[in-house]
Amino acid sequence: MPQRSVAEDLARDLPATPFVAGRFESGPASQSFDVVDPVTEKVLTTVAEADGDTVDRAVASAHRALDEGEWGRMDGAARGELLHAFAQLLQDRAESFADLESLDVGKPAIEPRVIDLPQAIATFRHYAGWADKLTGHSIPTSGYQGRATLSYTVRQPIGVVAAITPWNSPTMIGSWKIAPALAAGCPVILKPPEDAPLTSLLLAQLAAQAGFPAGALSVLPGRGPTTGRLLVEHPGVDKVSFTGSPQTGYQVAIAAAKGFRPTTLELGGKSPQIVFADADLAAAAQGVALGIFANQGEVCAAGSRILVARAVYDEFVDRLVQLAAAVVPGDPFDPETTMGALINPRQLERVLRYIRLGHDEGARLVAGGGRPDRPGYFVQPTLFADAANSMTIAREEVFGPVGTIIAFDDDEQAVTLANDSDYALAATLWTTDLSRAHAMARRVRAGAVAVNGWSPLDPRLPWGGSKLSGHGRELGLAGIEANTELKTVTIVL
Ligand code: NAD
Repeated sequence: MPQRSVAEDLARDLPATPFVAGRFESGPASQSFDVVDPVTEKVLTTVAEADGDTVDRAVASAHRALDEGEWGRMDGAARGELLHAFAQLLQDRAESFADLESLDVGKPAIEPRVIDLPQAIATFRHYAGWADKLTGHSIPTSGYQGRATLSYTVRQPIGVVAAITPWNSPTMIGSWKIAPALAAGCPVILKPPEDAPLTSLLLAQLAAQAGFPAGALSVLPGRGPTTGRLLVEHPGVDKVSFTGSPQTGYQVAIAAAKGFRPTTLELGGKSPQIVFADADLAAAAQGVALGIFANQGEVCAAGSRILVARAVYDEFVDRLVQLAAAVVPGDPFDPETTMGALINPRQLERVLRYIRLGHDEGARLVAGGGRPDRPGYFVQPTLFADAANSMTIAREEVFGPVGTIIAFDDDEQAVTLANDSDYALAATLWTTDLSRAHAMARRVRAGAVAVNGWSPLDPRLPWGGSKLSGHGRELGLAGIEANTELKTVTIVL
């Protein structure tokens, strides 16, 4: 049974300092920051921020691990064993992790128990299996100056990977970055979100317990413009894997480009959920509501543009309104709660500003629109109907529980509306027509399209987008290959 007091004790007792070269730093920090509970608005703990010296030491220890140490000499099978051991420790501590994540992020206690933690564990196990399976090819050539050659490719670790994570699902998204990079043999330096760094500190504890050599994984808590910037600008970092907003992603991409360092950028979305007239409307309404209200709408793939066939529009809007009314915002540790709080007052103000814009630009508010009468950074589940795709609430990512409903007349218009976006991360189609499902899945521009359900989270399925949603893919084979360098070797025989 999840308990707030147990999670609060855990938060208070965590070592809240950078984890570098296999141990938590001691001694006074030059800077620190408070971690605030979004539900009670109270300080949970104060964390020492990694400054320039700490970032230097973390990068140096990562290079020592790779270039001189045990980590760089370890073969794939041994790395796989370590990752399996780590996954087992994570499984053993899953409830602690889940409750700490609920406390830190403000999401209902059930969500990390059934989504984030099982996904993170599965991701570590998935990549434990890949660690000894990265192979190259033997490639026939025309030879060299009349002599035969043997040419082949090998995949080698790309080098030191900086992993920067957002606050909405730090454990799961952290696992998407850490597991494939470690499996590929790269040392990882994780910069967790300043708003929710606690589970990442717990991950550092587990890395030490699992027996990862010093420098294989470092965790540097800190704010974005300080620790984050120092890390992505560090010349000793070989690759940056970033998940966050497009605005920050842009700064990260520029900093990395200065050293021609590759990036994987997982940015935001304005994902369409398209409900066709032939859909099973009851199932579609449940799925669409989940797609916009899960995790308080603080989900990169949130289905925030709800496109509905005019023939079923009124009925569908009614169904969604009823589902929004059934959502229970509240303390994540109350079993009745189905929606938690937004992460911080800035995010609350941002979401309320979009709600005002929805009103001002002429959309019809059919659910929510305000704050529940209680402390904490809560906002009601909100729906705007009769919106146009040109409105700000249809174009910009709100990152809160605000759905924008737009009617369409036929399939052509549905595709045009779906693709008329600066983002291209995910899309959901609701239809019982198999041909339409395949045709639309091909035509809608998105990194992931799901039909009659939300995109299942599974470490085997590649994840990522294009346009403002970023570039590169995490998870699956693509996710580990993104942490490797393809080397060509030719031997003149
Ligand atoms: P954010 O961009 O504010 O912060 C993300 C991370 O970047 C944090 O750890 C932050 O400290 C760090 N950061 C900030 N400035 C930095 C800088 N100059 N240099 C280096 N690092 C810096 O994003 P957020 O508010 O934490 O998360 C919300 C955003 O993340 C949304 O736009 C959401 O859609 C996106 N997101 C995307 C995915 C995905 O898979 N595509 C998943 C989750 C969240």
